[in-house]
Amino acid sequence: MKAAATSNHANRAVEQLHANAHDWTNQCVKCGYCLPACPTYESMGVESASPRGRINLVKLAAEGKIDLQKDLTEPIELCLGCRACETACPVGVPYGHILEAAKEAIGNRPPSSDNMTKMKKLALVHLFPYPRRMNLLGSGAMLYQKSGLSNLVRQSNLLYRVSPVLAHLEQALPAIESPAKRIRAGTLIPSKGATRMRVAFFTGCIMDSLMSRINRLTIELLTLVGCEVILPENQSCCGALHSHQGEAKQAKALAKRNIQAFMQMDAEVIVSNAGGCGASLREYEQLLADDCEWSGAAKDFSKKSKDISQILHQLGPLPFTGEYHGIVTFQDSCHLRNVQKVQTEPRLLLQAIPGITYVEMAGFDRCCASGGIYNLLHFEESMKILDEKMNDLKETRATTVITVNPGCQMQMSIGIQRDGAANHIKSLHLVEILAKACGLN
Ligand code: SF4
Ligand code: SF4
Repeated sequence: MKAAATSNHANRAVEQLHANAHDWTNQCVKCGYCLPACPTYESMGVESASPRGRINLVKLAAEGKIDLQKDLTEPIELCLGCRACETACPVGVPYGHILEAAKEAIGNRPPSSDNMTKMKKLALVHLFPYPRRMNLLGSGAMLYQKSGLSNLVRQSNLLYRVSPVLAHLEQALPAIESPAKRIRAGTLIPSKGATRMRVAFFTGCIMDSLMSRINRLTIELLTLVGCEVILPENQSCCGALHSHQGEAKQAKALAKRNIQAFMQMDAEVIVSNAGGCGASLREYEQLLADDCEWSGAAKDFSKKSKDISQILHQLGPLPFTGEYHGIVTFQDSCHLRNVQKVQTEPRLLLQAIPGITYVEMAGFDRCCASGGIYNLLHFEESMKILDEKMNDLKETRATTVITVNPGCQMQMSIGIQRDGAANHIKSLHLVEILAKACGLN
């Protein structure tokens, strides 16, 4: 009886994969132009770790020629989702959509007893979508840091003995600002001087709870260039992690909640400061394309979504008050570069800072292997790719590496710690260095 139920489940997953992705997989002409762009192909060296290989496996699974769970799960789970292959592909194969359809089909299976899968589901379903729970997590983490407990844990090496992955992440966490300084949803912040643009700010879940200082500085920079900033109430997690983990139903529910919260605000632009979240907001249009009730609003929402670097560049120049001395380089966020197609604005903003020495890093467009929670789920594979990135970073002799995504920022910090370079290299968000040069803290 149980075997028949499992088999029905598997058949439904194959049918669903066929309906959602088979046509896209047929667009691939197997030219292989995407291969040199793929970090997992470079580090693992096998066809099944390449975009072309993965697309072919999805096609075969959708046709029922290979087993969805046994043959497809590992190649798909080892993909970073960086989408560099999409940018490299001359015929425009929508790899991101194929990947998400495959993850949804793989995830659509009887509940697993694996501990990591259980924890992942718990966080996706019961934590990220709830701002109050995320804020409690942020307050708890701040107390942990400020009470000195974090120092004790680090000195005792306790966490490292339990889980090296968590130990690295704990050390990479930036100092968490007091919740009293957090700008709450529902607030309207006037521009400094004449209002040039009315924008709605997307706070994000991790940014709002663990990196609220960067959110506060983002808002201050926006007001400095003439933006009136609204923080819509009832906004939620963007749903990117849900989409990437095959939880399409919940990703759609979160998208609808955000569309509802933002579209009644009458803002010209919806601004985000995390490359991954911004990409997800830009793709609400595709996510809800088949939903006749929501597709129009989703399209309008996606059109209005912009990265902070685009707005600061558009309304700049920034009123710098000081100089920044040091060599600075930039690590692209894959989702900002490959999905939002934003590359030049962050660089132009950095190069405009007085006193700065800007150096481009080899492999700047190569994923750092943070990949949402890829570094948690596949620590060794992730560190192998990160080690290459650190070699490129050291070549630049940079004292500061700038990113525009919380995951990338923490991953670069992990690389810096692993290299024992924390005394002379730091990892900052773009907004932090710009704010410092504008005299904000
Ligand atoms: S995904 Fe694009 S670049 Fe890669 S093999 Fe297929 S057609 Fe060529
Ligand atoms: S998304 Fe990134 S890791 Fe995955 S196949 Fe494409 S290039 Fe490779």
